[in-house]
Amino acid sequence: MPADTACRLPELEQLERLLEHRALNHEVLQYIDGLPLYKIEVGQQGPDIPVLFLVGGIHGNEAIGSQILLAWLEHLLARLTWDSGLQALFERVRIVMLPLVNVTGLEHSTRANAEGIDLMRNSPMRARGLRLWPLAGQTVSPKLPWYRGSTLTLENQAIIKVMQHTRQTANFVLAMDLHSGFGTHDRLWFPYAAHRQPPAHLAEAVALCDLFNGSYPLHDFYTIEPQSLSYTTHGDLWDHLYDTARMDKGPLLLPFTLEIGSWLWLRKNPRQIFNRLGLFHPVLPHRLRRVLRRHWSLLEFLLRATADHKHWIPTPETRPALNRLGIQRWYTKD
Ligand SMILES: [Zn+2]
Repeated sequence: MPADTACRLPELEQLERLLEHRALNHEVLQYIDGLPLYKIEVGQQGPDIPVLFLVGGIHGNEAIGSQILLAWLEHLLARLTWDSGLQALFERVRIVMLPLVNVTGLEHSTRANAEGIDLMRNSPMRARGLRLWPLAGQTVSPKLPWYRGSTLTLENQAIIKVMQHTRQTANFVLAMDLHSGFGTHDRLWFPYAAHRQPPAHLAEAVALCDLFNGSYPLHDFYTIEPQSLSYTTHGDLWDHLYDTARMDKGPLLLPFTLEIGSWLWLRKNPRQIFNRLGLFHPVLPHRLRRVLRRHWSLLEFLLRATADHKHWIPTPETRPALNRLGIQRWYTKD
């Protein structure tokens, strides 16, 4: 990779420094305006392996998601040189990571890509029921925010293709896509964004939620809920990927979106509103370091929950009660 390309994007430079590590496989899925969209893989490459699928940088002004993934990846690769427990874990699980998806948006610190398209409004999913315009996605102009575009972007085509390929060689896929910018606390969202109906795998969402809260009682700063409790949108990529996966006979896909509550950083440091990334990114160095490490326990949990999914995935016996619990918890309020 020419050095000038890496210079255009500091996160790309950080990623390319890690590519030499022998535990890591990489592939360039696309070049977009000359910038590479990388797929990274760590772990067992054989068939029928559970996969933790991690995505960052869908919105270019939310670089913190990419930075968290890269910092965690660097931590894992350093541990893999000496930690036999972690080496053994990666014999039975694989990470597939697309840490810098919207490379042109990241380069210019814009939410949309260089064509003005919001990747999280670009899938074919259409919202139903009450929705806010233009937040829910609009087709009027790429000059306005939340533009849906008229065709599937190269970035989303790449994610969809990697997901299809991943599911062909996996027996289970747990996904997390990292964002920032909504609200004052951290949320873990599951489908749907398009409407208020529960997903077919509500029981799995309850099981994973309770597994995390039971195993990490001091990490109670995540609100786990369907995205539609916050707002509904057209074109959510994870709704689309989830529904596509549900239609075929392949392995289960359970997608989550981490929405880091960045408004809190603003309240503690109001001057950062004048910074270009201020609304979506911690500006003070100590806060950045804290945010970079804050989600490692969640990532480690997701990795282990993926490897040992057979120990917590609902059975035909436990599923009805978990489903009822999910309806009570998230779908009985208006
Ligand atoms: Zn976002």
